[in-house]
Amino acid sequence: MKYLDEFQNPELARRLLDDIRSTVTRPWALMEVCGGQTHTIIRHGIDQLLPDQVELIHGPGCPVCVTPLEVIDKALEIAARPEVIFCSFGDMLRVPGSDRDLFQVRSRGGDVRVVYSPLDALKIAQQHPDREVVFFGIGFETTAPPNAMTVYQARKLGIPNFSLLVSHVRVPPAIEAIMTSPGCRVQAFLAAGHVCSVMGMEEYPELAARHRVPIVVTGFEPLDILEGIRRTVRQLERGEHTVDNAYPRAVRSEGNPAARAMLADVFEVTDRSWRGIGTIPASGWRLSERYRDYDAEHRFSVGGITTKEPAACRSGEVLQGFIKPHECEAFGTLCTPRTPLGATMVSSEGACAAYYLYRRLGTTPTPQEASPVV
Ligand code: SF4
Repeated sequence: MKYLDEFQNPELARRLLDDIRSTVTRPWALMEVCGGQTHTIIRHGIDQLLPDQVELIHGPGCPVCVTPLEVIDKALEIAARPEVIFCSFGDMLRVPGSDRDLFQVRSRGGDVRVVYSPLDALKIAQQHPDREVVFFGIGFETTAPPNAMTVYQARKLGIPNFSLLVSHVRVPPAIEAIMTSPGCRVQAFLAAGHVCSVMGMEEYPELAARHRVPIVVTGFEPLDILEGIRRTVRQLERGEHTVDNAYPRAVRSEGNPAARAMLADVFEVTDRSWRGIGTIPASGWRLSERYRDYDAEHRFSVGGITTKEPAACRSGEVLQGFIKPHECEAFGTLCTPRTPLGATMVSSEGACAAYYLYRRLGTTPTPQEASPVV
C-alpha cells in the first residue's frame, strides 16, 4: 500500500539502526510526544532494537488519556439526560469516569451513539429537532479542525439543538510544561507529525532554542520513527538544538492555513487541565464568544462535580514519562484493557494499552519477533 509498505522496509530499517548505532556515543533520553508513535514503537519493538544508550520516554500525546476526569464526568451527566442524544467516537465509551462510563450510561437507557465524524452528529441533530444533540469534542490539534468546522456549520445552517462538549489540548504548551517540570529527563522531542500537518512548525523554534532541545517532526510508520530518532541523535551528539522536519511528505512549515483559519475563528486559547498532570497554562481551546451558544457546558448546567481517581492508577506518572506502564503495580493484574482503571489502558493510543498488547514483559523478543516490519 502506497505510503505504508515503503515505510516498513526491513532492509532500510536495518540501515537506519546501523546509522544510529554508529552515531551514538553516550546516553540520551528522547520523548515521542504522540501516543500513535508510542504504539508503533512498542508494536514493532523499536525501543528494544535501539542501542542501549537511546532511551525512549513515552509522552502525554494520547487525547483520550489526558481528557480530565471532570470533563468525563460532565459527559456522563449530560449523556444521562432524557432529552439528550450524546455522540462520541467509540474510544471514549469505555473511559472510566468517577463512578461509571458511557457504556454504562447507555445500558441504563441513555441515548449514547458512536459516530465516525462530528458531521454525523450534526446530521442527527437535523433529523431530531426535538432532541438536544451533543458531540464530545476532545483531542489535540488534529481533531480540533473538524470539530470547529461542525460548530461553524451548525451556526451557518441555524441548527440550534447541536452543541459541543469541548476538551481540546495543544502540544507546544505541554512541551513547555514537561521541560519545566522537576525531574525532567527529556533531552529531545519527536514531535507529532499529524499535529504539525495542521499547525505547522512555527511554534517550535523558540521552544527548541530556549530549552536547548532538538525537536524533530516525525511520522508514524517504523521507518518514520527510526529516521526521526536518527536525526535527533545526530543533533544531540553534535550539541545542536534545532527544529527539523523528518515528515515532509505530510508537513509544511506553515501547516494547513485553511484549518488554522477555522480554528482561529471558532476557538480561543484557554488554560486546560490534563488528566493525571494538572492544569497547563494556555494548553487548550474552548469555543470563542461568537460560538458560546454551542458550548454544551454553557447549555447544560453540570456544576458541582466531585471527581474520584482510582488510588492505584499511576497514569499521571506514565503520561509524564516518570515510569513505564509495567512499573505500575496494577498493570496486567487489577488493570487490563477489559478492566481498565485509567484512560491510558483504555485508549487505542494509551501507553499502558500498548505495553499490554504488544510487549512480552520480562523477555526480549527475538529479532524476528521484534522486526520493525509488519
Ligand atoms: S496500568 Fe492501569 S492503573 Fe496502572 S497507570 Fe496504567 S491505566 Fe493506571
